[in-house]
Amino acid sequence: MTRVGIGYDSHRLAPGRPLILGGVAIDSPVGLEGHSDADVLTHAVIDALLGAAALGDIGTHFPDTDERWRDADSIALLEQVASLLAERGHAVANVDVTVVLEQPKLAPHRAQMVDRIAAALGIGADRVSIKATTGEGIGFIGRGEGAAALATAALEPAH
Ligand code: MG
Repeated sequence: MTRVGIGYDSHRLAPGRPLILGGVAIDSPVGLEGHSDADVLTHAVIDALLGAAALGDIGTHFPDTDERWRDADSIALLEQVASLLAERGHAVANVDVTVVLEQPKLAPHRAQMVDRIAAALGIGADRVSIKATTGEGIGFIGRGEGAAALATAALEPAH
């Protein structure tokens, strides 16, 4: 049986914060604000994977009230989720993500982000898709106040 999950996340953009997406630090005058490194892309992937396995959500596993997760490296959290899935007998078939961010352009960083997500999950880069779009100047994303990410993930039984 193939199991499918969805994930969504958003974070506020603020001056002086690092912009980390898919585990890659991207040069930008503004970055994402949050308890962890606020890697909105990786958070959406985590929720999609946990959703596919019916194992709760990112807040269940890494609560933002817990000081252990302050400034946490989200790729390390994704690695923990990958271990949890493997323990439960799940293999990741594929992950697909769309990041919604007004700027900067993410295309130059796409390959590196794919490699980091794939490595954290222990799967080939051909099983990870990362896409980007803008808010077209509309709403909180269009005004540059924040960014969002949507993800789907499919799991198959591990052999
Ligand atoms: Mg988040």
